[in-house]
Amino acid sequence: MTALALDIGGTKMTAALVGDDGRPENPVTVPTPESDVWNACAELLRNTAEPAAVTRIGVACSGPVDLETGSVAPINIDEWKNGFGLRDHLAELFPEADIRLAMDGSAAALGEHRFGAAVGVPDVLSLVVSTGIGGGLVLGGQIVAGASGNAGHIGHIVVPGSTTPCACGGIGCVETVSSGPSAVRWARELGWTGSTGTELAADAAAGEPVAITSLQRAGVALGQAIASAVALVDVRMVVIGGGFAQAGPPLWNPIQESIALHARLKFLDGLQVVPAALGGLGTLAGAAALTA
Ligand SMILES: [Zn+2]
Repeated sequence: MTALALDIGGTKMTAALVGDDGRPENPVTVPTPESDVWNACAELLRNTAEPAAVTRIGVACSGPVDLETGSVAPINIDEWKNGFGLRDHLAELFPEADIRLAMDGSAAALGEHRFGAAVGVPDVLSLVVSTGIGGGLVLGGQIVAGASGNAGHIGHIVVPGSTTPCACGGIGCVETVSSGPSAVRWARELGWTGSTGTELAADAAAGEPVAITSLQRAGVALGQAIASAVALVDVRMVVIGGGFAQAGPPLWNPIQESIALHARLKFLDGLQVVPAALGGLGTLAGAAALTA
């Protein structure tokens, strides 16, 4: 049996064969182009495995997805944002393969559950805090996909105090406060002159007051969103990954304090909030786990 794992995101796509241990082997990453996304994806896949030999494919794609039709409409891939028949295209390229599709946030949660920070923890909420905020849920050791495959969109929980329009079309989502670009935008409005989340995190670590306040604000809102979500779904662990989650104590301390303030129900005692263990490959690991 030859199994493939594929992770399609707004900035890059990664593919790998799945090893005997169920993990991706020697992953290869290419940038997601502005146009002809499918051609680039198909080339990446053909370079990873001989199509006729592939019997299983696990695919994680930026959401929203529609697991019923197998189409995707990722808001961060312009060419596909009004819908792309991903499963149909994959089936044409890999006629012998069993194709299993998941939203990237769901796959990241599964990856951390099978191979990362949440091994042995059956009920997990996972977040990816980066240019946006993604999320996914594993309950009872299985992805909770929801009616269309999009359960876990924690980035679009509304938080107090924000009236900023969100990429989803709504207003005041946690993503408008706590994603890297959102925290940068807010700091720049107060006179901070950097331009990336990495710079903002470095300045906060160095004691720059606006950077500290911006990460504080981002962390508090994340904690509020997480407290709301864990009360709803009753998990024992929250795993947080993504580039902006590398910001360290200036972001993590307010997250933990905010959760401690808001998540007060007895069943939430002992909730663990931990960094993701698989870095940028958690989603691909989850895609690999889909082929098991
Ligand atoms: Zn939103």
